Amino acid sequence: MLYYHMKEPAVRVLGPGLRYCLWVQGCARRCPGCVAREAWDMRAGKPIEEEALSWEIALSGAEGLTVSGGEPFLQAEALARLIRSVRQKKDMDVIVYTGNTYEALAADPAAAPLLRQTDLLIDGEYIRELDDGKGLRGSSNQHAIPLNARGEALLALWARQARCREVFRHGAEVHEVGLPSDAHSQTES
Ligand code: SF4
Repeated sequence: MLYYHMKEPAVRVLGPGLRYCLWVQGCARRCPGCVAREAWDMRAGKPIEEEALSWEIALSGAEGLTVSGGEPFLQAEALARLIRSVRQKKDMDVIVYTGNTYEALAADPAAAPLLRQTDLLIDGEYIRELDDGKGLRGSSNQHAIPLNARGEALLALWARQARCREVFRHGAEVHEVGLPSDAHSQTES
């Protein structure tokens, strides 16, 4: 079972091309300036079966999957199961945002299943004072790290993409996604 905060099937501002974006629930970092505060409390997550969600993602028409949060590596096993299940149905590239550094994740056996399924990792804690408004990471201490050849290709495409936001309305619910283009404002993982 996976616990998520939000999902959007057709996002263009969190990686190259049309992407299914999933924000998982739960994060203990409490970064000042985090815009995903509602995703902090693990108990507030919406449960969903990986197999059911994998069909939704594979049939969404998106070219790739972006996972943010919350902290994805708190649910590394469940996310790895989800991505394997998606890829059995459709070959999709995967970008993961995390508040951890790559070095810390590489040394943690619990992170390995999700790292193995990730093409491009955006690592590091969001630090508001280092938000320079550039690139598709929140602050300059964060890095886009390709974990394979597909990640390299994503990074090359991504370098041409500027920061912007998209707004989605679902009845009374409004989801604003992406990173703000002005420095020192709020951002995601
Ligand atoms: S910015 Fe990301 S890592 Fe920091 S508290 Fe928010 S969800 Fe957690």
